[in-house]
Amino acid sequence: MSKSIPSDHLETQLVHLGNDPQKQYGFISPPIYRGSTAVYEDLKTLKESFDDPYKKSLPNYGRFVTPNSRAFEEAMSELEGGHDAVTTNSGLSAITTAIMALVKTGDHLLIADSVYWPTRDFCNSLRRFQIEVDYYNPRIGSGIQTLFRPNTRLVYLESPGSLTFEIQDLPAITKACQQQKILTLIDNTWATPVFLQPLKLGVDISIHSCTKYIAGHSDSFMGVIICNSETYPMIRTQALQLGQCPSPEDTFLALRGLRTLAVRLQAHQNQALLFAQWLEEREEVAEVLYPALSSHRDYHLWKRDFSGASGLLSFLLQPQYLTSSLEAMMNRLRLFQKGYSWGGFESLAILSDPSAYRQKNSWDPGRPLVRLHIGLENIEDLKKDLSQAFTLLK
Ligand SMILES: *Cc1c(COP(=O)(O)O)cnc(C)c1O
Repeated sequence: MSKSIPSDHLETQLVHLGNDPQKQYGFISPPIYRGSTAVYEDLKTLKESFDDPYKKSLPNYGRFVTPNSRAFEEAMSELEGGHDAVTTNSGLSAITTAIMALVKTGDHLLIADSVYWPTRDFCNSLRRFQIEVDYYNPRIGSGIQTLFRPNTRLVYLESPGSLTFEIQDLPAITKACQQQKILTLIDNTWATPVFLQPLKLGVDISIHSCTKYIAGHSDSFMGVIICNSETYPMIRTQALQLGQCPSPEDTFLALRGLRTLAVRLQAHQNQALLFAQWLEEREEVAEVLYPALSSHRDYHLWKRDFSGASGLLSFLLQPQYLTSSLEAMMNRLRLFQKGYSWGGFESLAILSDPSAYRQKNSWDPGRPLVRLHIGLENIEDLKKDLSQAFTLLK
């Protein structure tokens, strides 16, 4: 449905991909196509619409495809250099659909120890199908091959981990996997296509929670799976079998979010870097976990593979500031609202202790972390907000 864009520049593509105004009375954005059934005048055309095994060329039933979901899928696939993309109704369902599509009883899965907790919970649940699941240190790099078994089917990555911010060595891991024909999947929600293009580094499948930066306004749920040609048929088929169907409103919002994604992320990046540098100077703070800081342990990998950093980061307090007033400090924050998720325009803060479930060799600082989403408020206001809350720790 979309026309080809006469530019390789991502900013230009973000503005135009998936739009064809002349098909909609000249209006810029597509309408929201609400509908369960698409009708045809004759049975022959109706039947043809079912001949496509992936049910995407001619809409016939809203669960399979809508003009909104198709426009977004084509845009996302183009942006990351995929073969095609599949939308689902949440980021988590994109993750579970992609994994389900690829595994069978007896397989062995290697999952980064730093993954989003619900991803981990889902992978653990696969053990009831006699699927073996192991967690590996996200900093393992090419050492991943020492964990391969004859039945290893896939390696799942998340870079950076969205609480603890380890950057994974994608080229080293994908090279080792390709030699053994092991599939690689990555959760690319933090970087978005603007800051990381995983398929170009050898990853087979890139997954996004569009709920975060892509929709970008904390008002929508959706996921997308960008596939290479080998994995697309399996993943599209599994999504159809599971009945995955994002709503037309959400696909509309996700496509609209792409239009401003580059400028929003640039703003989040500018703010987050300034905020992280300021945090590093604070006596209360022991370590800032933000890969775009040159002090970050994986800065060299981030610099090599990413073209930017988004607005989500964490920090660890100095042990002497870990007082019983930690919760009071969090509650004192006014502009940083307490809430899960991130990727909207607003700043958010949570306390989290991933060591409750992680392996000791990959995360064990002996204290909780504070995770911040740096929103689009004035940066001095945000510093002031945290400063006044810090006074409660003394
Ligand atoms: C939020 C999130 C998800 C899940 O997305 P939903 O749309 O909430 O289901 C997956 N991965 C990461 C890194 C996330 O932050």
